[in-house]
Amino acid sequence: MVSRVIPVDPFDLVIFGGTGDLARRKILPGLFRRFIAGQMPPEARIIGAARTDMDSAGYREMIAGAIDEFGGIDTPPAGTLDAFLAQLEYVTIDAKGEAGWAELQELMKGTGRVEAYYFSVAPSLFGDLAERLQHWGMADVDARIVVEKPFGRDLATAKALNGTLAKYFNEDQIYRIDHYLGKETVQNLMAVRFGNMLFEPLWNAQYVDHIQITVAETVGVGGRGEYYDKSGAMRDMVQNHLMQLLCLIAMEPPARFDPDAVRDEKLKVIRALDPVLPHHIMRGQYEAEAGQEGTHPSYREAVGDPRSKTESFIALKTQISNWRWSGTPFYLRTGKRMAARSSEISVVFKETPHSIFGPDAGQHRNVLSIRLQPNEGITLGVTIKEPGPGGMRLIDVPLDMTFAEALDDDAEHVDAYERLIMDVIRGNQTLFMRGDEVEAAWAWTDPIIHGWEARGEVPKPYDSGSNGTTDSHELMRRDGREWRKVSL
Ligand code: NAD
Repeated sequence: MVSRVIPVDPFDLVIFGGTGDLARRKILPGLFRRFIAGQMPPEARIIGAARTDMDSAGYREMIAGAIDEFGGIDTPPAGTLDAFLAQLEYVTIDAKGEAGWAELQELMKGTGRVEAYYFSVAPSLFGDLAERLQHWGMADVDARIVVEKPFGRDLATAKALNGTLAKYFNEDQIYRIDHYLGKETVQNLMAVRFGNMLFEPLWNAQYVDHIQITVAETVGVGGRGEYYDKSGAMRDMVQNHLMQLLCLIAMEPPARFDPDAVRDEKLKVIRALDPVLPHHIMRGQYEAEAGQEGTHPSYREAVGDPRSKTESFIALKTQISNWRWSGTPFYLRTGKRMAARSSEISVVFKETPHSIFGPDAGQHRNVLSIRLQPNEGITLGVTIKEPGPGGMRLIDVPLDMTFAEALDDDAEHVDAYERLIMDVIRGNQTLFMRGDEVEAAWAWTDPIIHGWEARGEVPKPYDSGSNGTTDSHELMRRDGREWRKVSL
């Protein structure tokens, strides 16, 4: 199957923080892949803007190296890399001072193209950038800004940040990135739910026993220890990525697939979330592990604080108080240094009301699992008769739709960042978080965090390479359920 690639309109994309880790690992290699795919028009310009002192030639060299290291392209088609690099410029700029702004203004003057400014810098610089863009006449009503996570660390800071950006830009100019929303499977989740008659009638508390969302990583905090220890799994993963997935799985069908219709429905889900009870949250910190390449430090060693109370793992149970979901629990779990790198949403359906096959046939449930990584795809577990003459014995087999096999190669390689950047250029905000959504997510998260802080709770240790803390399994067992295995 050959996918259609429609080039976007000519654009100027300024990447503040264009020499940083995110720009080199994700943004620029992603743009190069869009260039190869024919989606980036030859008139487009990408302007790196950062504090690092260099010229455009030096920047092109840096980005050629980044593409080689992180691009995931063995041999780019002849001439494409040079042609792409020729569309790059660089300005040395200070977000907090005046250096470089006149030069950037000159570059952006009256081009008549789509203008986008990617804030790939620390959030403490967002306000300075927004203010200077306006001061230098670059914040006109057609300009778009892209802001990275974290968007605040609680409701107060998120509100302050929204307030600052709102001074210079309208909401429809602000693209708050959550790269989970750019994943192929996440969009497919909406296509499966709202493009088929099959699932939607069953998508409610009457037929769904529970829903579980797991985002497991094998990596530890690595070099980000200092940053991570101020954040933790709740702020770093649950408040944004897991909540967004929860919204998409639980929301009512929007009337249209347009940005505000979709985001209105997501917001209603967040507002209908029950507060989480203290005995429905389990937090953990990973232990050290001896491996082939030496010993991996424990969480506390990695962050350099033997008394740290920040969690690298969290499991929680919540409910959505509305007609559709009343009585169906949602279990969320995420952690570092777990058994496998795996992100999965599982919709676990109820058992049939009566088994005509008798007690020996066992209990079977359909599970629709939506895998975000690795091997993006959707699997539906179906119960069938075990083949052979052994009588009526039932087994569960997967109906599998692994995208990499079913679709063409191109679909497989489109990274979340490339898709989202192209959406910015097209002016489509559907897969970006709106300000009120982010605030509502913090309004739900804040009391949970304040609760464990007030109780002085210390996360429990868990083994590296495991499925998380012992009590997270107890959380499920108490309800007569179990977590799905974290596996590739
Ligand atoms: P980084 O530290 O690697 O890069 C920071 C960039 O900002 C550099 O280009 C630096 O020159 C520039 N910069 C710093 N101070 C400046 C100033 N005063 N004026 C102009 N430029 C300045 O950071 P990063 O990892 O690339 O992260 C950038 C943003 O993206 C952060 O908000 C981070 O939280 C977010 N983010 C990063 C990742 C990731 O994988 N790296 C993932 C998700 C979100």
